[in-house]
Amino acid sequence: MASIFSKIICGEIPSYKIAEDDRYFAFLDINPIAKGHTLVIPKQETDYIFDLEDAELAGLHIFAKRVAQAVEKTVPCKRIAVLVSGLEVPHAHVHLIPLNREAEINVTAPKLKLPHEEMQEIAEKIRSNFE
Ligand code: 5GP
Repeated sequence: MASIFSKIICGEIPSYKIAEDDRYFAFLDINPIAKGHTLVIPKQETDYIFDLEDAELAGLHIFAKRVAQAVEKTVPCKRIAVLVSGLEVPHAHVHLIPLNREAEINVTAPKLKLPHEEMQEIAEKIRSNFE
């Protein structure tokens, strides 16, 4: 069965899309821990990130770098944190999380509840900064 992220890639499930190329796809996390919290995934579905072929894993990070640069231009922050957990969704993904303090990397903290319009606006701004 296709993962929820594969359904997002093919448009079966809507997302706040940021960017894609032939191999990778980026979109806002639906339950962000910070404004601009973005997920970057390979289009080819693999559960565990360290089961990706080397070239696929390297490409994922290179694509994530371009996405992170766009997020950083959009959301005021000190750094973009990179987090890989993968305990919830069995489709390899990298979290990109705008960060000002280390304590903000807390995936168990209550998630932000942002209105649809604000998520759309954030996604649009990040998209416009994506090169
Ligand atoms: P992890 O697998 O890394 O522990 O967590 C999966 C992440 O995917 C969570 O941060 C969760 O909010 C996000 N997520 C789960 N389902 C969806 C979805 O349908 N759409 C989006 N945009 N994000 C999702």
